[in-house]
Amino acid sequence: MAIKYAMTYQSTRGEDEGAGYSDIVLKGLAADGGLFMPRIYPQVTKTDLEDWRHLSYAELAFEILRLFATDIEEDTLKTMLAGVYREDVYNNGRTGEDFSKITPTRSIDGGKIRILELSNGPTLAFKDMAMQYLGALFEYILEKRNTELNILGATSGDTGSAAEYAMRGRKGVRVFMLSPEGRMSAFQRAQMYSLKDPNIFNIAVKGSFDDAQDIVKACSQDAGFKATYNIGTVNSINWARVSAQVVYYFKGWLEVTEKPGEVIDVTVPSGNFGNILAGWIAKQMGLPIGRLVVATNENDVLDEFFKTGVYRVRDSEHTFVTSSPSMDISKASNFERYIYDIVGRNAGRIRELWTQLALKGGFALTESEMAQVRESGFVSAKSTHADRINTIREVFEKEGLIVDPHTADGIFAARQYVRAGVKMLSLETALPAKFAATIQEAIGAAPEVPSSYVGIENREQHVTVMPADVGAVKKFISETLKA
Ligand SMILES: *Cc1c(COP(=O)(O)O)cnc(C)c1O
Repeated sequence: MAIKYAMTYQSTRGEDEGAGYSDIVLKGLAADGGLFMPRIYPQVTKTDLEDWRHLSYAELAFEILRLFATDIEEDTLKTMLAGVYREDVYNNGRTGEDFSKITPTRSIDGGKIRILELSNGPTLAFKDMAMQYLGALFEYILEKRNTELNILGATSGDTGSAAEYAMRGRKGVRVFMLSPEGRMSAFQRAQMYSLKDPNIFNIAVKGSFDDAQDIVKACSQDAGFKATYNIGTVNSINWARVSAQVVYYFKGWLEVTEKPGEVIDVTVPSGNFGNILAGWIAKQMGLPIGRLVVATNENDVLDEFFKTGVYRVRDSEHTFVTSSPSMDISKASNFERYIYDIVGRNAGRIRELWTQLALKGGFALTESEMAQVRESGFVSAKSTHADRINTIREVFEKEGLIVDPHTADGIFAARQYVRAGVKMLSLETALPAKFAATIQEAIGAAPEVPSSYVGIENREQHVTVMPADVGAVKKFISETLKA
């Protein structure tokens, strides 16, 4: 299929300068505060899908991403993707499964539910699926534009390590990652701090994750500092990440269906709504997805919305620390993109809703807008700590399979929505090795650690400790870049 258009992107709040893929990937957020969306959703036909059944993951990624990244030369994109989605990157030294598929599937509940494995990448969580691509993409765009990027971020665990493993050794990119001193697990600390690459800088601040995030915000709002030091971010609203996540919905569909046009349902453990948003986009492109099940934990802002039409963000006092910590969010940063489609891409309505959100901490959709939500196929469920522990134990006893607490959130929700004759794909988002204490609680045994991580806690660590102070972090960055 030849592509006869140049894809441009517009903001959910109205800005439309005809920006291309490479531009918006570097920008992140639009200048009007909105999120970038493709002007149209490219359409995929039943015939395309059948033609793609024999493709490797990298080849399929090329077929999907070329529809969005029309400003990148096709041969370049193809070579880049072949370098990213490689079996040796997505097996963690493990054997016994067909990791050449990158995202293999397995059955539970007698085949009623299929698990799509998204955590076989370098940091054992699904964020690698898109972040590894972002690393290669940044390197390419920066070289082409003869510029550099200094990524500044704050992490309480998963995002920081995924970013560091994606950017390590990349030309033109440095990572300055802030983490709260002493508040991550020993495994998470070792995962990040054991990296020796000269372009990775770990900064442990004496404070909480919120303190670390406030420092990042303060640096990003200082336009002078940002411009002088080429400061950028890699957060989950970046369109490159969303577009790369669309690929595995297609791969999962191709893997579990037998008939052309066969409809499947998909369940996604959700936090910032980035993962499931990619499923919505796949559906809009023509992938036969029926229901999209949003799974939340006790932090149920999304479950409440899909059940009531009221979106009410939480303050930090009402954001709970749970046993599926990567879903502990108070507001879902990618949600605006979905609502943009629900309100018929009316940027004025989005500005109105997000003004209400800023002023009153929430908004309610109208009855006709809620009809669109129901039409969209989204439903939701929430789990408690006890639900996750029981799910982990039960899946282990019945299937001999250990799942992590986020994946257990998903399975718990998926089981409530299984329909006769429709396959349910439930997305795995992390490996159990990352959450050993919860696994121990559920089954009384520790999960297997992939060979690439055995003994990681004993490796030498590289980290600079400093006070939770904007000035100290700015000084560290400027002195590092001068040296
Ligand atoms: C980030 C993350 C999630 C949540 O994904 P969103 O895209 O933020 O909805 C779920 N599980 C794990 C393990 C994660 O790292």
